[in-house]
Amino acid sequence: MNYWFYIDPFVHIAIKNESVLLFNTLNGKCLKVLNNQEIAAKMKELTSYSNSYVIKISEKERDSSIFKEFFNGIRNHFMGGLLNEDWYSGKPVQIIPEMKIMESFFSPNSLSRNRTGTDILKKLIEISFYLNSDPSQKDRYEYYRQFLYPASIIDSIAELDLNNIKDLLTEAKNSNLLRLNILGADIFRYSHINELIQLINDIKIEKNLYLKYSLLPDYNEEFFKRINDTMNRIGEKKEFYKFNLFFTRDDLFSSKNIFSFFYNLGITTKFCFIIKDEEDFIKVEKFIEKNEVSEYEFFPYFNGENIEFFKHNIFLDENEVLGSKPSLSEILKRKRINEIKFGKLIVLSNGAVYADLNKIKLGTLGSESLKNLIYKEITDGNSWRETRSKLEPCKDCLYELICPSPSFYENALNRNNICHIITSDKEG
Ligand code: SF4
Repeated sequence: MNYWFYIDPFVHIAIKNESVLLFNTLNGKCLKVLNNQEIAAKMKELTSYSNSYVIKISEKERDSSIFKEFFNGIRNHFMGGLLNEDWYSGKPVQIIPEMKIMESFFSPNSLSRNRTGTDILKKLIEISFYLNSDPSQKDRYEYYRQFLYPASIIDSIAELDLNNIKDLLTEAKNSNLLRLNILGADIFRYSHINELIQLINDIKIEKNLYLKYSLLPDYNEEFFKRINDTMNRIGEKKEFYKFNLFFTRDDLFSSKNIFSFFYNLGITTKFCFIIKDEEDFIKVEKFIEKNEVSEYEFFPYFNGENIEFFKHNIFLDENEVLGSKPSLSEILKRKRINEIKFGKLIVLSNGAVYADLNKIKLGTLGSESLKNLIYKEITDGNSWRETRSKLEPCKDCLYELICPSPSFYENALNRNNICHIITSDKEG
């Protein structure tokens, strides 16, 4: 007697060398078989394009010591099973989900077609504008390389041309823009801040204003007045705005209490705490409790000396990777694109445009269209389409698509495996 061995379409299957991992995206259960040539070969056959997760096996195979336990595991984890061949007139048919739309969009023909149309603009979801730079306000660390941070990035005093912002936002009208981030050395010192607010106020998308807390104690009456003026321009549209106020450890000891000023502005304020070690973490926790901060986020920063902090608090272990329970569509997305970086552009105060500040420049605002910048990133860039399948050692790891896409920390730590699953040689 023969059987149809099938795996359900909602199960993610990874085969690396002679090891196999099956992950049920509905219940988060995982089945792993390491270094088993026969099972790996069988699963390769099952996942081939022509077989679509269904193959025939004999009764002898079913009862063999090699496969018996494996088939039991599959059944117990609700991942598939065996069907008596006699019950079917032909091979049962399964449709295996693939990201057809995404795949066809990235095909060379489609990309060259999209260069002339406006479809390519639909890939844009977020723009971050660094309005100004002033080297005298440079931070000790380059935080902006690891997360979005209100920094003075270029080494000269510069202001982003408002006309270039206008042109870019006009072209972005055909995009799927969801978010605008407004950053810089100090956004309230940007000469055109109120014109900019007027320009973006009617765009009904999320707008994040970034500010360093360390600047505020220096502010005099005039600057608080400027913030108030800007708030008046925002007027009824406050619900679309959020302040992101960044704190380093030193800021936690500042005696100037400006929180009530922010609370009274009527705009949601998120407190963003940069954390480098356990001590920072304890201090911030006390600060949050003392000041009754309700909306906050921690931003771990790698300064080259705190690898142990990262290993204890940021590196993922197997339970955490599996516990994140990615859906099937998330897994399929991770196969093609970087879900953290995709669709995002950053514009610096000199007009330079980047997909990722750790990678090379895409172009300059004013001399290139938005469409062209996006086209460049999709065809030649390595941020939006940076997947773990291109990185060592992840490309040979069973968790390649279960792990989140590479973030900015991989670059800072100079290693792609920010995990305890495959350890780097550097760790010794
Ligand atoms: S090696 Fe890469 S893919 Fe594998 S668990 Fe670590 S980070 Fe994830």
